[in-house]
Amino acid sequence: MKYYSTSRISPATSMKTAVLQGLAPDRGLYMPEWIPCFSSGKLDELKDASFSELAFEIAKPFLGNELDESRLQEITEQSFTFKVPLVRLNNQTYILELFEGPTLAFKDFGARFMARLTGAFAEEDNKLITVLVATSGDTGSAVAYGFKGVPNTRVVILYPSGKVSRLQEQQLTTAGGNVTALEVSGDFDACQKLVKEAFADAELRSSLTLTSANSINIARLLPQSFYYAYASLQLKKKNPDAEIVFTVPSGNFGNLTAGIFAKKMGFPIKRFIAASNKNDSVPRYLETGSYEPHATIETLSTAMDVGNPSNFARMLDIYDSSVRAMSDEITGYSVSDAETRETMRVIYDEMGYLLDPHTAVGVTALGKERAKNQSEKEISVVLSTAHPAKFVETVRETLEFDMQIPERLANVLNLTKQSTPIANDFQALKSLLLSLPC
Ligand SMILES: *Cc1c(COP(=O)(O)O)cnc(C)c1O
Repeated sequence: MKYYSTSRISPATSMKTAVLQGLAPDRGLYMPEWIPCFSSGKLDELKDASFSELAFEIAKPFLGNELDESRLQEITEQSFTFKVPLVRLNNQTYILELFEGPTLAFKDFGARFMARLTGAFAEEDNKLITVLVATSGDTGSAVAYGFKGVPNTRVVILYPSGKVSRLQEQQLTTAGGNVTALEVSGDFDACQKLVKEAFADAELRSSLTLTSANSINIARLLPQSFYYAYASLQLKKKNPDAEIVFTVPSGNFGNLTAGIFAKKMGFPIKRFIAASNKNDSVPRYLETGSYEPHATIETLSTAMDVGNPSNFARMLDIYDSSVRAMSDEITGYSVSDAETRETMRVIYDEMGYLLDPHTAVGVTALGKERAKNQSEKEISVVLSTAHPAKFVETVRETLEFDMQIPERLANVLNLTKQSTPIANDFQALKSLLLSLPC
């Protein structure tokens, strides 16, 4: 399998190069040259597979002969060691809980798979890969815990001092081992600028093998298709007539793009609902046919505050820039903070189910769709992208109680923060990077 750039200037390349580069040299996003299709016979065989077995079968054609099958199997087994519960809310609505991983958010799926794949490629070349990442919170923690303990890799995270929540900071700074957290005197933009300077520095590039782990990496996208495949097969098994619709709380639109991949592979998925907060560039595009990104707006569902989503380039590529083709398969809704809170209250009061603010945007969008368009056969799955305990303050303000914190989150809060303060100064970062132990 080869991977081409959505900008179509850089040449097509291997999975290994695509993963280690992240972004293509022409600044496009990597896409597989074709999407493998699973026959109905094969789907039938896969319906009783475990999550990691299914992940292996899906990943195999995407890697072609770049990795031994036994190594790939090891990667899928070690990446997906947690449950993926599909919880029934009522006859037509399910929640797919994607927050059972170490940082309690769906980004663990992408980060854990990418870490192990990167480690395998590094081992092949007998190299130590240094992953450099700037974070405003959530991505950094998934990357820290994703790469923790993975041989042939180490991670350096830059985060803005005083500008991440206490929980995020604990998640960023307690992984230890091959993960180093740098607390930068500056804001997120300063962190990002330092990382860019590091990638551009010839001396650093020649002494370290640097790579990024941002969300546009194809190795983070691919594993996100696994849970669409898994949930759709589970539902089909129970209800062979079901027409399955996925609702996806979206920010940078990697999650939704992975869903489109799963549909193209032949998994039984009818269509998607793109749920945005007030950062509504994609719902507006689906409505009007013109893409006019706005500056980012701050909302309650912070991880979805993206004014100009990167993965929109991949969506355009898949649908040949046809808004008609895209809107045949995706309906978009924008949801306000007031509506988000109202949904958290109603679903808790009526069903006893506690939603985090991101998932609540999804449930609200699904409600809007159902008010317009009721179909008896459709069964909806809302992706739950984070555990509500990650947003205790919002839960407290909205529902007026303090929720119980799951043990694995409480444990992180009790660990000792290990971070190195650094000035907002490239020379300081550079000498630190050059002095890291091997
Ligand atoms: C990152 C994130 C999202 C948005 O996912 P995209 O793939 O960027 O669209 C939604 N919810 C949570 C909790 C997240 O961390």
